[in-house]
Amino acid sequence: MSRLIRAVIDAHALRHNLRTIRERARGARVMAVVKANAYGHGLVPTSLALAEADAFAVARLEEGLALRGAGITQPIVLLEGVFAREHLLEAARHGFDLVVHDPLQIELLEEFGGAHRFLLWIKIDTGMNRLGFRPEEFPAALERVRRLQPAPLEIRLLTHLARADERDDVMTREQLQRFQSAVGHLDFATSIANSAGLFGSVPLGCAWVRPGLALYGGSPYPKGCGLDLGLQPVMSLETCVIATRKVVRGETVGYGGSWRAQRDSVIAIIAAGYGDGLARNLPGGTPVLIDGSRAPIAGRVSMDMIAVDVTDLGGVYVGTRVMLWGNGLPVEEIARHAGTIPYELLCGVSQRVPLELS
Ligand SMILES: *Cc1c(COP(=O)(O)O)cnc(C)c1O
Repeated sequence: MSRLIRAVIDAHALRHNLRTIRERARGARVMAVVKANAYGHGLVPTSLALAEADAFAVARLEEGLALRGAGITQPIVLLEGVFAREHLLEAARHGFDLVVHDPLQIELLEEFGGAHRFLLWIKIDTGMNRLGFRPEEFPAALERVRRLQPAPLEIRLLTHLARADERDDVMTREQLQRFQSAVGHLDFATSIANSAGLFGSVPLGCAWVRPGLALYGGSPYPKGCGLDLGLQPVMSLETCVIATRKVVRGETVGYGGSWRAQRDSVIAIIAAGYGDGLARNLPGGTPVLIDGSRAPIAGRVSMDMIAVDVTDLGGVYVGTRVMLWGNGLPVEEIARHAGTIPYELLCGVSQRVPLELS
């Protein structure tokens, strides 16, 4: 029992997923989205393992700084751009590419005064209504960006899909059409597809794709899992049994006594809880893998532990290996039990869980 809970990160699976995405993207360049600590997989080790990516995308300046600090030389795109002059200076110093989605960001660039020529991605809001210029605002924004001094190194254009993960092709087609009518006559490189757009049925074209979840082997769709898309799970959240006990029929287990033994039972106590990022609302019955066999969670998730009903399994001892999700137990399935999406579970793995690159 060398280590209790840990997240094992499979670098081969990461690279396999990048290759699968490349094939799917038919020659488009791949901007690997590594925001939120690479969806919980570890920003720096993940990005180093993805050395073949054409660029990296992050949400925050600090994430970009960590990548440059680790010696990453590829383009790094700040997906939300910057909001203050000192951040613009930092972005220039470290050569970050900026998304520009708001007139205030153009103003910052107009007042910048430095010599650095930024590569700018202008974001167009085609229906997400979160960030970006509406199609009718875009021509004026483009004009201002074109007139910047010093001139941008390059201008590119992107939009973001609102419902591709629901496989809502009507909305995706509408967004594609709005994007094309706003920018189709212009000669700039473009980008639309996130993971759901990339593996969806609407061909989106474009010079760049922006996968996040798919890199980590996850499926963005409500049904199925990444394996169905030819992807391999990258994170295995592993731990072990720290105690076993017999309970007599009629006794309860855990806080609130919410699980009651319907028969004389054997319970394994597992070192994993909401303090590690497991969802506290994971209901009893959610499966875990005990030495490769499924067994149901019994009762409530506590901070450091869960109880699992192993009555039907033999050979469960202190130290027996347990997997909470990963190879053989898709994180998508656990997310459905928790009423959430794999994104949230992966990002939610807490700081006390050591990451092990394998
Ligand atoms: C997070 C993000 C992505 C990646 O989305 P996935 O669904 O994980 O593939 C792509 N583009 C933008 C703008 C994002 O914010």
